[in-house]
Formats: sequence, structure tokens, C-alpha cells
Amino acid sequence: MKNIAVIGAGTMGNGIAHTFAQFGFEVSLIDISAEALERAVATITKNLDRMVAKEKISASEKEATLARLKTNTDLAAGVKGADLVVEAATENIDIKLKIFQQLDEICDDKTILASNTSSISITKIGSVTKRPEKVIGMHFMNPVPVMKLVEIIRGYATSNEVTDLIMETSKKLSKVPVEVNDYPGFVANRILMPMINEAIYTLYEGVAGVEEIDTVMKLGMAHPMGPLQLADFIGLDVCLSILQVLYEGFGNPKYAPCPLLVNMVTAKKLGAKSGEGFYTYTPGSKDLVVSSNFK
Ligand code: NAD
Repeated sequence: MKNIAVIGAGTMGNGIAHTFAQFGFEVSLIDISAEALERAVATITKNLDRMVAKEKISASEKEATLARLKTNTDLAAGVKGADLVVEAATENIDIKLKIFQQLDEICDDKTILASNTSSISITKIGSVTKRPEKVIGMHFMNPVPVMKLVEIIRGYATSNEVTDLIMETSKKLSKVPVEVNDYPGFVANRILMPMINEAIYTLYEGVAGVEEIDTVMKLGMAHPMGPLQLADFIGLDVCLSILQVLYEGFGNPKYAPCPLLVNMVTAKKLGAKSGEGFYTYTPGSKDLVVSSNFK
């Protein structure tokens, strides 16, 4: 395992590329958007600078990491010679299935194909390829260079050999891989999203306000961030789409998204990225201000 291709240079893709390059892998980062690639390299450089300032890596390690990173807007050229492809493109099933069909055609037979999907079935993704035994989930957490966990998802057809190799590779990134089976939401989001949804129901039913709910969970349960603030950071549209996967996948009403969450996403109040969710976000300000909708 030496050459890694990362598809998608957004929030997750840049962190995944950074991490592989930092731990000595040759990385090819691919996106359909040249601007996204430019932004990703700028973000990786800034994050490496921060690591140098905190003395976590040396200046020469930073330069060596950047030297191991290449970018490409062409999929076939970008994945050439890859031992492992990690797909971190937009969370949309049609986009992902198309990418995996293309990868199956253009990659060497030995290449392992991984997806960083938060909620789409790995078995489904594997089923559109002729190598489902070499298709696996590698679910990194945000921010990737910092968070220790990688949830490794075995599709129904994923082989033991591929699972073992990906577990070992994750350890080489100084991560802690945890192996789970392929059912809706895997483990992380199956537990996290119902908690966030319940926090939104608690607000919707008027049991308590935004700050009160988050304070109970922060101080009472030692969570570093309350569930409503966390939902704002993940993106309320992302939370809604994962809850829909759980709801449809299990056919169980306990996963039904709260109507307040549905309304907020319809109104384009998507959390930090749109400037407002349960809180409002002003660039440059670290103050946590509750949205006027909940005062
Ligand atoms: P993002 O929107 O920040 O980035 C997605 C990138 O994919 C964009 O730059 C886009 O141009 C690119 N893209 C779209 N179609 C493409 C294609 N056909 N080929 C190449 N590039 C393409 O998204 P993100 O938040 O980085 O999420 C990426 C994946 O990671 C999703 O599957 C998501 O569920 C998963 N994930 C996200 C988080 C998170 O906190 N954001 C956490 C864990 C997993």
C-alpha cells in the first residue's frame, strides 16, 4: 500500500489527503472542480503550518508532506497506479454509484475501492462493481488530521483480506480503526443522529431552550459540544439526509426526522455553513449566539 487516490477535495477529502501524505503515502487528490483543489491545497498548507507552530511536526516534514501530494481534475489520470482509492465526493447516491462504476473500469484489478460515505450502503456501492470483495467503507471523522477514529465498514461481500489490510493501513495513519457491519448509519451515525433528533424534538416540544439543552448535555454528560451546536456544525441538511437513510433503511418510526429539522432545512437554515441554524454564525466571531427564531 503506497499510492493513494482521494476523490473529492472538500471538507473531508482535503483532511484525508493531508493525513495519508503526512504519514508517508503518495497521494493523488482528484476533484471535478479546479477551485476545490486549489482551496484544498491552501487548507492543507494552513493546517500543516498550524502543526509546525504547535511543534507537532517539523518544517521539513511539512515540506515533505506537500511534496507527496499531487492534484488532478481528470479521474483516469488521477487514479493511475493507485493501490487504494478513497472516495470522499458529495454525499449523493447517484454521484457515488457513477464514480464507482467508472473506477471499476479504469483501476487495476488489485486496486481497493473505499468510500468515506456517512450513510450510503457499502454493499450497494460494491454491487455496481465487478469487485465487491474489494469495496469497503473508510469513514473518517471531521477534522480528519485530528480525530482518531476510522469506522471501517464491511459490505456484505467485502473479503477478510481486504478488511485486514484496510485496518492495518488505518493504523499506519496513527488512527484507531473500528470494524463494523454494513447497516444503515453504521455505528457512529446510528447512535449520534437519534440523539441529535431527540434534542431537536426536545426543543420543538418546548421542554427547554437551545442553550439549556446544550448545557445539560455538555455539563451533565461531559460532551465537548451540545447536540444542537454539533448539528449546526455537521450541517442540518446532512443530519436530515442521514435520518432519512435510517428511517427508510429500518422502516422504524423512531428515526422519523423532527418536523422542526425538516422546516429549518427547507428554509435553508443549514447551520454554521449557511450562517444560521440553532445558533447564528458571524465570520471571525467565536461567540455562540442563539438564533432569533429560538429566543
Ligand atoms: P464537500 O461538499 O465538502 O466536498 C465534496 C467534494 O466532492 C466537492 O469538492 C465536489 O466538487 C467533489 N465532487 C463532487 N462530485 C465529484 C466527482 N464526480 N468527482 C470528483 N469530485 C467530485 O463534502 P464533504 O463534507 O467533504 O463530504 C464528503 C463525503 O464525506 C460524503 O460522503 C460525506 O457523507 C462524508 N463525510 C462527511 C463528514 C463531514 O463532517 N463533513 C464526516 C464524515 C463523512
